[in-house]
Amino acid sequence: MEFNDFDFHPNVAAGVKAAGYVTPTPIQTQAIPPVLEGHDVMGLAQTGTGKTAAFVLPILHRLMQGPRGRVRALVIAPTRELAQQIHEAIGGLGKQTRLRSATIYGGVGMNPQIEKLRNGAEIVVACPGRLLDHIKQRTINLSHLEVLVLDEADRMFDMGFLPDIRKIIKQVPARRQTLLFSATMPDDIRRLAGEVLHAPVTVQVDHTAPLNTVAHALYPVDQHLKTSLLLELL
Ligand code: AMP
Repeated sequence: MEFNDFDFHPNVAAGVKAAGYVTPTPIQTQAIPPVLEGHDVMGLAQTGTGKTAAFVLPILHRLMQGPRGRVRALVIAPTRELAQQIHEAIGGLGKQTRLRSATIYGGVGMNPQIEKLRNGAEIVVACPGRLLDHIKQRTINLSHLEVLVLDEADRMFDMGFLPDIRKIIKQVPARRQTLLFSATMPDDIRRLAGEVLHAPVTVQVDHTAPLNTVAHALYPVDQHLKTSLLLELL
């Protein structure tokens, strides 16, 4: 299977080509078709498997049709780093689409985020706490939301974000497509999936090891030596 088989909008296909992707990863092969068909999807996959593009590409394809200048897709991620990474993937893969993505996370000022939202981002990548602040202050309008993605749901649960996620879900339209990605499926995540997904297609990659372009290594090291080890590795 190749990316051409998905029949993405030419401006999305251009992003795939620019990223140098030729063959979809297993999670992409399994998840992209049901997401394109508008199904809710529960994806069991961890970072390094290509899961970001598995939801970003069909979202970009979908948003090529329809109105601009309003938030139509929301991705919720547990950490700033992951949110930033997803935002960058959208920027890279969506370079030719003229769709705009904005990040929302704590630890930085609210005003630049409000400005970006006012300028009309179609995709928002957010961490739960700051997103709730924007919802409370009515600086984000989620009433036109079409797609909701919960990324690394198990990590969000570990970090205690589940109550926030439930509050956010109450503020988005009930009629929407929901995609939930998680590396593991403990009972709490299964319960959450039961609450937020409608007749989901479950996709699971047997082999959840990272792509062969991604290397993992473990260095046991004393606390005080961490920085020098990092510098050495860099
Ligand atoms: P992710 O699991 O989404 O964090 O992706 C891990 C890495 O794999 C990222 O650097 C992606 O750019 C890269 N990647 C994703 N899909 C593909 C693909 N089909 N072919 C080659 N690299 C890919």
